[in-house]
Amino acid sequence: MDTRLLPPTNEGLHIAGGILRDGGLVGFPTETVYGLGGNALDSSAASRIFAAKGRPADNPLIAHVPDVDHLDGLASPTPLALRLAEEFWPGPLTIVLDAHPHVPRTTTAGLSTVAVRVPDHPVAIALLEQAEVPIAAPSANRSGRPSPTTAHHVMTDLGGSIEAVIDGGQCVIGVESTVVDARGDEPVVLREGAVTREDLGVGHGQVGGDLSASPGTRHTHYRPTSRVVIAPEGKGAEVAMKASAFESVGLVSRGPVPEGVSSLGRFDRPGELAALLYGAMRDAEAAGLAVLVFEAVPEVGVGRAVMDRLRRAAG
Ligand code: AMP
Ligand code: MG
Repeated sequence: MDTRLLPPTNEGLHIAGGILRDGGLVGFPTETVYGLGGNALDSSAASRIFAAKGRPADNPLIAHVPDVDHLDGLASPTPLALRLAEEFWPGPLTIVLDAHPHVPRTTTAGLSTVAVRVPDHPVAIALLEQAEVPIAAPSANRSGRPSPTTAHHVMTDLGGSIEAVIDGGQCVIGVESTVVDARGDEPVVLREGAVTREDLGVGHGQVGGDLSASPGTRHTHYRPTSRVVIAPEGKGAEVAMKASAFESVGLVSRGPVPEGVSSLGRFDRPGELAALLYGAMRDAEAAGLAVLVFEAVPEVGVGRAVMDRLRRAAG
């Protein structure tokens, strides 16, 4: 199959909307990472998403809608969900609710719950409006690879196995959405993301009371072929320099990059590290580097999601 690279114009969005309504798959930008979209209410479109990604069948998909009034046919929002939607949508917060009975079990990976989100990206919203159906969209990478933050990353992983990719430039946030269970009176964080525990006003305990509630967190993720090493704060250069005596090394850090080490990104704030994290992993791979050193950030705010993703990549 030839994968079309579409511009984010009215014409491109019109073509992409048609592909989605016909049961096809389209990669598209969101504020977090690129999503691989298919009709969430069409079991065979959902199956194709799993096949294209090589995604384990027990890892459910997030359904995307253009606003909170488009949840019909997916789920009935609880009072807590409405409160969270009011405060955080459009935005990087995914809300888990009891699924309506006719949501395909392929989409929910057999669960009786469904995860829903309104993305904060003009191209994504325009596409969802064109599609006229809820769009299931996990990250548009092959399973186990770093999430894609450019259309080029999507093409690298899925070119040839999906109908189209809309090129909407680089994703601003760079890590996946926060996932919360909103079936009770208080949000339960199932996955850390850009909406922080501080934003949600919930405690700093372990992720999720019950990991089986968010199957995706069980799986190995984001493991590039370059070995990821996490250096303590302020020690990025030192760790990279030592490793570079034996192997080819890339570094993502706040400080200077020593000679003999490849610079794969500089950041000041944790949010800047989030935005370049996955791209750096893919660049390190493409450059054939043996090791990629990331300098750690404090585990507050979005730093918690960043360190979660780095630890998964480091294994
Ligand atoms: P991805 O879209 O690839 O970022 O992955 C979606 C994430 O949402 C995974 O961690 C899933 O386990 C989680 N998720 C999706 N649907 C549900 C659900 N119904 N209940 C709990 N977690 C979910
Ligand atoms: Mg993913």
